[in-house]
Amino acid sequence: MKMEYNIMEYLLTSLDCPALDASGICQLSENPSVSEEIGIQAARQMRQFIDEMPGGFLIYHAGGKEEIIYANKALIRIFGCSTLEEFRELTGNSFRGMVHPEDLDAVEDSIKEQVIQSKYDLDYVEYRIISKNGEIRYIEDYGHFIRSKAMGDVFYVFIGDATEKRERRKQETLQKEKEYFQQLEMIQGLSMEYESIFYADLDMNRIHAYRVSERMVKKFGQDGGIQEYAGFDADYVEEWVYPDDRELVLCTTDPDSIRKKLANKKEMHICYRIYQDKKPVYIQLRIVNVGSSEHISQIVLGYRNIDDEISQEMERNRVLEAALSEAQSANRVKNVFLSNMSHDIRTPMNGIVGYAVLAKNNIDDKKKLMEYLNMITSSSDVLLQLLNNIFEVVGIDSDQIHLEENKCNLVELLHNIRTAMSLRAEEKNITIYLNVSKVSHAAVLGDQQKLSQVMLYLIDNAIKYTDVDGEIYISATEQTMRVKDRAIFRFVVEDNGIGISKEFLKRIFEPFEREKSTTLGGVYGTGLGLTIAKKIVEMMDGTIEVSSIVGKGSKFTVTFCFRLQEDEDMDDDNEKPGSDAKTGPKTILMVDDNEINLEIGVELLKEAGYFVDTATDGHIAVEKVKNSKPGTFGMILMDIQMPVMNGLDAAKAIRELSDPKLANIPIVALSANALKEDKKMALNSGMNAHLSKPIDVEQLYEIVHQILDDI
Ligand code: ADP
Repeated sequence: MKMEYNIMEYLLTSLDCPALDASGICQLSENPSVSEEIGIQAARQMRQFIDEMPGGFLIYHAGGKEEIIYANKALIRIFGCSTLEEFRELTGNSFRGMVHPEDLDAVEDSIKEQVIQSKYDLDYVEYRIISKNGEIRYIEDYGHFIRSKAMGDVFYVFIGDATEKRERRKQETLQKEKEYFQQLEMIQGLSMEYESIFYADLDMNRIHAYRVSERMVKKFGQDGGIQEYAGFDADYVEEWVYPDDRELVLCTTDPDSIRKKLANKKEMHICYRIYQDKKPVYIQLRIVNVGSSEHISQIVLGYRNIDDEISQEMERNRVLEAALSEAQSANRVKNVFLSNMSHDIRTPMNGIVGYAVLAKNNIDDKKKLMEYLNMITSSSDVLLQLLNNIFEVVGIDSDQIHLEENKCNLVELLHNIRTAMSLRAEEKNITIYLNVSKVSHAAVLGDQQKLSQVMLYLIDNAIKYTDVDGEIYISATEQTMRVKDRAIFRFVVEDNGIGISKEFLKRIFEPFEREKSTTLGGVYGTGLGLTIAKKIVEMMDGTIEVSSIVGKGSKFTVTFCFRLQEDEDMDDDNEKPGSDAKTGPKTILMVDDNEINLEIGVELLKEAGYFVDTATDGHIAVEKVKNSKPGTFGMILMDIQMPVMNGLDAAKAIRELSDPKLANIPIVALSANALKEDKKMALNSGMNAHLSKPIDVEQLYEIVHQILDDI
């Protein structure tokens, strides 16, 4: 009890109680004075307060055994003891006995160090204790060393049980770690495609590698690491980056440039190339500001291989560009083609109009009149063929071209073509020579229209690409060797024009190809003529060749093999239509809503000696046939587009008549609808044949002749 009383005195001394003397030892008299009484009273209250205070409090001797002088109730409880005796027994009554043996050395070292360093502050240590029931608890210890006269050197210590707090902190740390790892995983996941990732602090001139590609390993090592930022990528750039892109990369990673570029945006990136297996590979470098937006210092740099993306992008662009250029070229071709066609149509049209005027002016001069009318006929033929060409080109594009084999006189054909082209040639004072002397069998079976087309393209070019006063030689030669009823014919179109360069000769048959000199020279053209010509020639199993010398001229040679007509007497073919015309009772019913067409047709047929009746629409025609005596009408020439009832419906109606003789009257379509489809529709409606308008008189006579002869 006395002892405890002394401890209290120490306590009071340390708290500077005025009731105690300067030595700090309590001087109690037998009969204490009033002030002593007050001091004792205060000391008692203090003792009571310390005894009962919630935190642990301890006083122990410094040095030696570190014997415990005082322990309050809270401390005794922390150690799981119920009395001071129990506590003394558990700890061996010393501070050393309180501390977990494993923590003792560290605690003592720490205390010593702190005592040396600070005179007035509380020292702080953390350590474990083993409570009476063997439980390990964590302690926070705020102590202070003092020297006293009464008790010598002592430590007084405030002790708190931090076990729960520590546990809580541990849980919080674990939770934070968990979240951190989750975040890390998320970042890892998101940044999978980045082969190198760095965190850099520009102010600190530090760069920390989180992931490094094989190309950065040399600098940062396999597990990454911290390096100086300045020049961190110098070796990489030198060793890997494409020379043209090196400056870009170095400028981009320069701190000043980063600060400037990220001043008003969060992210920046560049694409550059590196060498990989001696091939350029595209890399993207992204730099993101992860620190303050006011002062740019903390950044993340990510390097990503984007070669596949770029390649795909380039491929996509290539496809798009190709599609675009195809579309543009198709459009250009269409426009050029249309305007060219319009030009080509105008040429023979001018001939027709011009000769018609001349014919009118010379109406009384029979010879001249005949000459001009012949010119008009030739130009009309060319015009008609040109129109057919348009269909042909459309057909070529959709592979709808078909060959037809009909009677054709090569000599006549070449004469007609020359006549048709002569007006154009005359405009440039170009002379066209035609030599057909080496053709012994002019009457052949072949596609006359396509042959004319090829020749027209070649002669047209010869005129176009020959200067004024030039000359063009057209010749046809029949090879002497004949295979059965076939013969080989060689057609040559030669000019002394501008000629064609060797380089261009290789591409001359490619679609839309035109030699620069001709384009620059302002010569009109589409670059399609020879493509079409070659295609036709190949379809006809022929060959086409070209030779040329720039400035001297060009020579196109076309070779075809034609079947010869059995009856190839030219005079027979030239016989006037209608000279052996039918004059019998078989009447031709001509159906057309156009009065002029009807008049011309009637006149032509009558001239040839036929009887003709007319109808101005399909319905009238059907009625006439229905009400006629079988045998009256030998054939019907039927227009297709007509009011009330069109030609197709009229033909169908006639085919459905009950009298078979009437129902089977031959019907020939005579129509301006000249497409293959139109012909097909005519035949499907029950008609026997199809003739295109404008009327080819010879063809008309021929078919009429055939039909009425057969009856
Ligand atoms: P176009 O004459 O409409 O341009 P073509 O396919 O007929 O188209 O000819 C292609 C190109 O070949 C011409 O643009 C021209 O450069 C060249 N060419 C064709 N024929 C001759 C020729 N007789 N003389 C010189 N160049 C020619």
